[in-house]
Amino acid sequence: MNSIGKQVLNALKGEINEIDYQRYIKQLTYDEIESKSNLAIFRVPNALIANWVRTKFADKIAHLFEIKTNIKPTVSILIQSSAHSSVQNTTTVINSERPSGSLLNPSYTFQNFVVGDSNNFAFIAAKNVSEKPGVVYNPLFIYGGVGLGKTHLMQSVGNVMLAQGKTVIYTSVEQFLNDFTRHLSNRTMDRFKDKYRKCDLLLIDDIQFLSNKNQIQEEFFHTFDALRNENKQIIITSDKPPKKIGGLEERLKSRFESGLVADIQPPELETKIEIIKKKCEINRVKLDREVINYVATIIENNTREIEGILSKLNAYSQLMGVDITIEFARNVLKEQMAEKRSNITTDLIMETVAKELNIKPSEIRSKSRNSNIVYARRIAIYLSRSLTPNSMPQLAQYFGMKDHTAVSHTMKKIQELMKNDEDFRVKIEELSNKVSVATPE
Ligand code: ADP
Ligand code: MG
Repeated sequence: MNSIGKQVLNALKGEINEIDYQRYIKQLTYDEIESKSNLAIFRVPNALIANWVRTKFADKIAHLFEIKTNIKPTVSILIQSSAHSSVQNTTTVINSERPSGSLLNPSYTFQNFVVGDSNNFAFIAAKNVSEKPGVVYNPLFIYGGVGLGKTHLMQSVGNVMLAQGKTVIYTSVEQFLNDFTRHLSNRTMDRFKDKYRKCDLLLIDDIQFLSNKNQIQEEFFHTFDALRNENKQIIITSDKPPKKIGGLEERLKSRFESGLVADIQPPELETKIEIIKKKCEINRVKLDREVINYVATIIENNTREIEGILSKLNAYSQLMGVDITIEFARNVLKEQMAEKRSNITTDLIMETVAKELNIKPSEIRSKSRNSNIVYARRIAIYLSRSLTPNSMPQLAQYFGMKDHTAVSHTMKKIQELMKNDEDFRVKIEELSNKVSVATPE
């Protein structure tokens, strides 16, 4: 006799299309031991499948259970742990489920955060705050561009404190505003105040949206002071430093600056590579070094792209039943790159290369034999030939070289270097992607 879980999956097979079944449902294993009549636990190999099943099939699965048992269980899709000890197993269960009542992402932890020069300062600040909340820096204000890990860091502090049983509120300006308006119209402002002023840690994400919203600025100001007077920790993120947020009351700006202001810069290539490795580990996607390097070169500064790319690679490779090789990755991600690559000109390449290598664009076209400049010139020529439709004679003329054989010689030289020196190749690929996303000045 099949377990109830298996029966349900069989029934589901008849209701969905074959591809979905092969790709997702077939990967589910029913956990007979841990499941209860009101809780059906399934395990899957990685987070990508888990997310897909949760959003697309969990309701159907619950319904099928109900038909068979008259009880509609909560369906829980958990990621299989690779280690086999039962201790490990329990941790996975905890980690892959959101703690109830909180909106923190359980994978946003310090452990899962890759530290590099670009984010070291903010990381240490957040770590200190998690060890001594309300004492060291209050508020902690983290700012930086999109996808650089601000939310991840702030929630890491939240997850530490949550695990200690503290009350943590994570909110956006919009949520705070909605909550405020709702309580105001329901005449339940006491409850609003209770909620926001009695927590141990208040996380406000993307505070720049407070700009020009006067009433809520006022309310936030009082919440802020109430919390800080009680030594409750506040962490704020923003896309810019307090001074630069327009339409914000001066007293709020000065409050924001009164603790510690920490910035996050775009990650260096090495950090990007480590972040991808980390995401692969968390999502249980296997990529070899070459593919990881390649992905690192095609993402810009926004680390958010990584998960999308991994999920795309993973889905394609499962669909086609092949491994993710570098050729495969290039193919799958080709379109993404092609879009970025239209509109590239030699001028743009020169500007980008010069900026990267800290020289003047005009020096690239000069006759200088300075080794840095020669190096930059070669790279600019190589990129121009690879990324623009210019012919070799045209490029020779543009870069002030004798004739097209000089260009061809340079191309060979760079290709050889790329073949023999992995680091160099990665640098060149990164540069070529920088060019692809650069906009002319
Ligand atoms: P932000 O809030 O700054 O826009 P997020 O915190 O949402 O950025 O980060 C975007 C994605 O990139 C998340 O999946 C996050 O886990 C990941 N990420 C960013 N920086 C790092 C890092 N240093 N280490 C690990 N993951 C990172
Ligand atoms: Mg964010």
